Amino acid sequence: MGKLLVNQVEFASIQQFSKEGRGCATAHPNHYQIKRNDDNLRAMKVSPATLKTIEINVQFLHITSNGLGHITEPMRLDQIAVLNRAFAGTDISFKYLPTNVREIENSEWFNMDMGSDAEHQAKHTLHASPERNLNLYTAGLAAGLLGWATFPWELEGDRDRDGVVLQCDTLPGGTQERYNLGMTAVHEIGHWLGLYHTFQGGCDAFGDHVDDTVAHRAPNFGKPVPGDAQNNCCDTNQQAPIFNYMNYVDDDTMNEFTPQQIDRIKMHVIRYRPGFIVK
Ligand SMILES: [Zn+2]
Repeated sequence: MGKLLVNQVEFASIQQFSKEGRGCATAHPNHYQIKRNDDNLRAMKVSPATLKTIEINVQFLHITSNGLGHITEPMRLDQIAVLNRAFAGTDISFKYLPTNVREIENSEWFNMDMGSDAEHQAKHTLHASPERNLNLYTAGLAAGLLGWATFPWELEGDRDRDGVVLQCDTLPGGTQERYNLGMTAVHEIGHWLGLYHTFQGGCDAFGDHVDDTVAHRAPNFGKPVPGDAQNNCCDTNQQAPIFNYMNYVDDDTMNEFTPQQIDRIKMHVIRYRPGFIVK
């Protein structure tokens, strides 16, 4: 397999890039966080079926540096369209107004890493009411990364940090080969709404806490073929969720959230992000 250049880093192969996290720097929740969130969801006396309309207002925050990182209006509109296609039929939609854009020149913030002082400074300065907006930051990011997100239960402790960070060339029309159809945004927003990777926990009992994504021991990558023995399924009689947005396949190969992933998202919205529920 050939080498792969991602955000200034040359990986030996696409498999190697996948092993190193496919550029997703979202922190793995520890067992205390997983347990606390499970307890919170279990204590809820509502069903996701009661929740009909979720409208997520997107605030774009573009960090630029020396002519890099500018995002055009058509790219924003295409990204919103990609999000609405990914969530079509789920009662969840994304709304964008052209006034909800800020572009800021800052070369230090432009190269921010997950959890860095630069991320803290940028978000502390730029964030807009996370209870009512998805703060969607774009920048160059630390080399090799495509993006990261915070989980919904982190909003209570680190309000300013809430949101999704995207490498600027992953938006539709960007220059990042394989990963420029806007699916990094879909994947990271999946985390932002509470989803884990489909391969979370490997073949352990709890996996991603979603019953209709079959457990698999390792991520899929590239353009896997259904039935291929290489799809890493824990039960070899079943098919790993190779097209799922929360797996690691190429942008042009991701096309699915499962019904139970959407139910889990809705429970997280009711519990942590009620400001997006349309009454
Ligand atoms: Zn991820």
